[in-house]
Amino acid sequence: MQPQIILMKEGTDSSQGKPQLISNINACAAVVDAIRTTLGPRGMDKLIVDTKGQATISNDGATIMKQLDIVHPAAKILVDIAKSQDAEVGDGTTTVVLLAGQFLEQCKTLIEEGVHPHAIIRAFRRATNLAIEKINEIAVKINKKDPVELRSILAKCAGTSLNSKLIHQQKDFFAQMVVDAVMSLDSLLPLDMIGIKKVPGGALEESRLVDGVAFKKTFSYAGFEMQPKHYENPKIALLNIELELKAERDNAEIRVNNVEEYQKIVDTEWNILYQKLDLIHKSGAKVVLSKLPIGDVATQYFADRDMFCAGRVVDEDMKRTIKACGGAIMSTAHDLDDSVLGTCQLFEEKQIGAERFNFFNGCPQAKTCTIVLRGGAEQFLEETERSLHDAIMIVRRALKHDAVVAGGGAVELEVSKHLREYSRSIASKEQLFLAAYAKALEVIPRQLCDNAGFDSTTILNKLRARHAEGGKWYGVDVMNEDIADNFIACVWEPALVKINALTAASEAACLILSVDETIKSPRSSTDGPPMPGRGRGRPM
Ligand code: ADP
Ligand code: MG
Repeated sequence: MQPQIILMKEGTDSSQGKPQLISNINACAAVVDAIRTTLGPRGMDKLIVDTKGQATISNDGATIMKQLDIVHPAAKILVDIAKSQDAEVGDGTTTVVLLAGQFLEQCKTLIEEGVHPHAIIRAFRRATNLAIEKINEIAVKINKKDPVELRSILAKCAGTSLNSKLIHQQKDFFAQMVVDAVMSLDSLLPLDMIGIKKVPGGALEESRLVDGVAFKKTFSYAGFEMQPKHYENPKIALLNIELELKAERDNAEIRVNNVEEYQKIVDTEWNILYQKLDLIHKSGAKVVLSKLPIGDVATQYFADRDMFCAGRVVDEDMKRTIKACGGAIMSTAHDLDDSVLGTCQLFEEKQIGAERFNFFNGCPQAKTCTIVLRGGAEQFLEETERSLHDAIMIVRRALKHDAVVAGGGAVELEVSKHLREYSRSIASKEQLFLAAYAKALEVIPRQLCDNAGFDSTTILNKLRARHAEGGKWYGVDVMNEDIADNFIACVWEPALVKINALTAASEAACLILSVDETIKSPRSSTDGPPMPGRGRGRPM
């Protein structure tokens, strides 16, 4: 008798071959179906409720995919490409998932007919290269010399990105704001130098862009009212020190036998605090920010010396202040000198809506700006922030990469046409695969029509005819249920968004196609016992 060979642990689950491939493709199709309807200016939004009852309303592909909590291993790849598109270019996240899904859909019939996945993968790689070449060829260069023209181009790109968002009514207003914000940055355009602060209440149009760092006034103690709220060229101390009496008392256990000893402890506590305060005062700082609480004694002390203080400043705000104003976060009050103190041209505290804000204007180290958003519901503000993030990323991309194409399916159809023509020149089987790729690209205009409630077949026929006649920028006109030259209609997108979306989608499709076996170990984390954590569901 042959001895039995045991390769894997008992309970290991595996399936392989064609059925596995088909099942992976089907899983991806299910994910794509979930976000299909969010594409484009007439796309719908999704309301997602998580286990804690937190509701999120979003139109952003990456946000939705993150919230969906997908467990299928192959479908997870789609989440990853949405995330990477979000990180890389910021917009086009729905597009990339939709494209990947459609590539797979087109492959499904081929696979079922017995085509080897590698033949398809090779053809798809080639098709992607051809598509990128074509996009680069037809993309229109931005003229950076003329500032007025540059601004208007950037505003159009931002507008196209905002078209599909909840705030599309105010798209011109926000497009201008986003362009102003990005243009005010240094040449490297660091994203984290644009702060976005949400103040509930008021109308969307009351949102505004302020130069420099701004954050909400932190919690303050009595005595705060007496502190000056306006300085020119102040020195700014950035601390990580608790300036409060309470803390020292809580941190230790001391046994005392009589009142005198207790009095000594209390006195020492006060002395330590006053020492710190004196050191800060002597350093010449006028504005004192601390990540930790600043108590009532300290507040009073600063007020008496015409200084301003804010405790419990959020980490993110602190970092931005440092980057903009210079200086360093100090954990001790000793060694406070000019090398670690920041500065700015103007510090003031101002009222915005019902909230008070601290402003640092004219920062020497880095140019920075803050968008203060106003609006109704919390969820609405959050979605507005995400939408602005997309638009900001698009403007940055357009500035860096300086080439744009027309959206609304125009560029996809043009590339599709090019690939189809090219495929006819090939004699081998590859012709079929290139044609399948070309067909998959049509999903974008088709979905834009479907989401707007148009007859997609009619519109697509019109579009194909127009592109064949050489109208390369013709795309869906979502306002009039017709086709239009989207370059003239100013539906513009950076070429890089499209290139990245195509590359990522075809990479993901190829990756999923190359998997023919999933092996699930019995102790995998998805269905094993819950991971040990810090309690209350938090991770380690
Ligand atoms: P994504 O997450 O991929 O950015 P969106 O929901 O933002 O998805 O939709 C983007 C698509 O909508 C792009 O293909 C873009 O060309 C198209 N689009 C945006 N504005 C218009 C418009 N005014 N007319 C036609 N298509 C538009
Ligand atoms: Mg978008």
